[in-house]
Amino acid sequence: METWQKQIQESLTTPEEFAARFDLPLDQVQDIEKHFKMRITPHYASLIKEKGDGLYRQFVPDPAELEGSGVSDPLSEDSDSPVPGLVHRYPDRVLFLVSHVCAAYCRFCTRKRKVGDVNKIHPSHIDAGIEYIRRHTEVRDVILSGGDPLMLSDRKLESILARLREIPHVEILRIGSRVPCVLPQRVTEDLTNMIKKYHPVYMNVHFNHPDEINPESQRALRLLADAGIPLGNQTVLLKGVNDDPAVMKRLLQKLVANRVRPYYIYQADYVEGTEHLRTKVEKGLEIIEAVRGWTSGVAVPHFVIDAPGGGGKIPLLPNYVLSMTEDQLVLRNYQGKVFIYPQVRDGETVKAPEPELITESVDMI
Ligand SMILES: *Cc1c(COP(=O)(O)O)cnc(C)c1O
Ligand code: SF4
Repeated sequence: METWQKQIQESLTTPEEFAARFDLPLDQVQDIEKHFKMRITPHYASLIKEKGDGLYRQFVPDPAELEGSGVSDPLSEDSDSPVPGLVHRYPDRVLFLVSHVCAAYCRFCTRKRKVGDVNKIHPSHIDAGIEYIRRHTEVRDVILSGGDPLMLSDRKLESILARLREIPHVEILRIGSRVPCVLPQRVTEDLTNMIKKYHPVYMNVHFNHPDEINPESQRALRLLADAGIPLGNQTVLLKGVNDDPAVMKRLLQKLVANRVRPYYIYQADYVEGTEHLRTKVEKGLEIIEAVRGWTSGVAVPHFVIDAPGGGGKIPLLPNYVLSMTEDQLVLRNYQGKVFIYPQVRDGETVKAPEPELITESVDMI
């Protein structure tokens, strides 16, 4: 197996390398590079089958990035930062940006303006972040993010985990990482043996397409799961990548087969330079409809929108409740069949019609 250091050394990072590898006009790639960082590992590049496929679209710069609208900090993370690099939006948990680099730069990244810029996510902010968490006893869950926390050396990552683990009110640690997908070689036994000393540690990985799951990433996921790290997956819904229910279903099923529980599907944020990859919200609902009931419940994630302006994640569900009165609910199941369910009123179940199938085809609301 090639080492991860070699993967990083041989990554494509310059416009020249991208232009040559993907047969693109150099000046075009140079223009994009003035605005947004680019990087792809040899491992991930080798998984791309053809120009424009679901893997290509996620990492190869596209001139469309310089068009369209969008904002640079759609989630107002900067204004919810009590100290730089730490976002405290929810009552009991914080997002802690501990690394400014990623193994590969996703073209749709919400922090597109920030990642790769050491001034925006600076290592010197880490001490202040830990101090903030120590002083805020309501914080029982710390989510390490970035950039990618697994781009830190084992030693640096361990120093952060160890210091957080010493704080009595911090119950769980979470790591959000795309490394198991784009640089799976980075997941070594040394790494997992280190992480498991600080349990409970959860990890959310980030896979967007079934072709991203291959023997190398499967090995990484196996090591992580064997170290007792509960694995979740966050997927971003992307046009031309996974906005097809069949593709998404295959991804979700493959994740579960590798002991990864799909956690969230995100509506792609309103970020500048990403419009060509965004879908309508209806697409996410259509995908949830296409999997709920039709495949294992453990494979079905929540579809969420991260509300602009710092409202946090809001779940969206297809409507399964057709009506609800004091007496009864009218529900539909995954196949569109309609059922009546009697309510409980004053401690007694209302004698409504038997809960039963009443019709097989009613227009969905
Ligand atoms: C996503 C997020 C979290 C974690 O949310 P969960 O729903 O608990 O996974 C925490 N803080 C911020 C700022 C986030 O964006
Ligand atoms: S790995 Fe995450 S933070 Fe890094 S570029 Fe991709 S989406 Fe952005």
